[in-house]
Amino acid sequence: MSNPSLLILPGDGIGPEVMAEVAKIIDWYGAKRGLKFDVSEDLVGGAAYDKHGTPLHDDTMEKAQEVDAVLLGAVGGPKYDNLDFSVKPERGLLRLRKEMDLYANLRPAQCFDALADFSSLKRDVVAGLDIMIVRELTSGVYFGEPRGIFEEGNERVGINTQRYTESEIDRVARSAFELAMKRDKKLCSMEKANVMESGILWREVVTKVGEDYPEVELSHMYADAGAMQLTRWPKQFDVIVTDNLFGDLLSDLAAMLTGSLGMLPSASLGAPMPNGRPKALYEPVHGSAPDIAGQGKANPIACILSFAMALRYSFDAGEEATRLEEAVNAVLADGLRTADLLGEEGVQPVSTGEMGDAIVAKLEASL
Ligand code: NAD
Repeated sequence: MSNPSLLILPGDGIGPEVMAEVAKIIDWYGAKRGLKFDVSEDLVGGAAYDKHGTPLHDDTMEKAQEVDAVLLGAVGGPKYDNLDFSVKPERGLLRLRKEMDLYANLRPAQCFDALADFSSLKRDVVAGLDIMIVRELTSGVYFGEPRGIFEEGNERVGINTQRYTESEIDRVARSAFELAMKRDKKLCSMEKANVMESGILWREVVTKVGEDYPEVELSHMYADAGAMQLTRWPKQFDVIVTDNLFGDLLSDLAAMLTGSLGMLPSASLGAPMPNGRPKALYEPVHGSAPDIAGQGKANPIACILSFAMALRYSFDAGEEATRLEEAVNAVLADGLRTADLLGEEGVQPVSTGEMGDAIVAKLEASL
């Protein structure tokens, strides 16, 4: 059988720097765990624009459709700020998400013990936290028609439309149930069925899909109550599934329970391919951080944890994903910090490369 394929798109700014650390980890898995990937690398964002005059070349798009998973660094930077909207670096990322039809956005909120004091919440509320928010990414109020600013009488009216079909709800609900099956088998669906018809339909369809997953304990919550519960006692949740708008807000809220932007991974999944794997794009939540690019200051952990998600959700290597997350935890427990994680007095920051090397050393020690 051929090796699983991985397309790496480092992008701009700190993207290539953090991706270089992921490359060390991929090499380690190949050499020490027999987990070999067919890795190819290509350009996206400003880097692609510089070479091809477009933020995503058609050949790269084609490759992304064919591989088992895509891992992206970050795109953008001040150099490209004045480009026409149609060729801005971010358009490359949006094209990938759209043409791969990645409808389920996975945003974990995981609190590493050593960083529990970074949260704005009390240590005991966040220590050990490990939840996953699944946000519908391709429909809802950000896409629904009619939309626009219209004249009505003697004033203007701004209109956006929350619109969900049953099949759109069904497919993202299935992604969330599948995920819950790989975790603690608890799923909470959030909407506003008390005031929105789309919420009533959402609840009905999720409940129906739940009949196919009798092992998963399903609950429902109004999204505003969900926001309160997430800050009050987030550990009551395992997987949360919600629509595009509520997911946008709730995933940012949940992510920040745990501290720095340099620590946050994400995944966007689409329909299963013929080999059973979902279409998948993994990327850190952060951007290209032009203020620190090229200085060896970037925290590579968000990108490394994005690769851990790829191991778990694309490559059926959950145990290896856990090994990698534990290696990250161990490095942090040793007190290693990149500059974005400094807080304690007297701690000297390590560079991007030193952080990557330390994580590889912990992987090695885990054998
Ligand atoms: P950003 O995430 O790049 O940076 C915000 C702040 O967080 C900066 O101070 C940065 O130094 C810090 N930071 C981010 N990631 C870090 C890491 N791994 N380690 C240490 N510090 C880190 O957001 P921004 O400054 O608003 O945007 C910069 C550029 O990135 C813009 O061109 C923007 O359009 C683009 N962007 C891209 C993505 C993406 O590729 N998915 C996401 C957001 C922003």
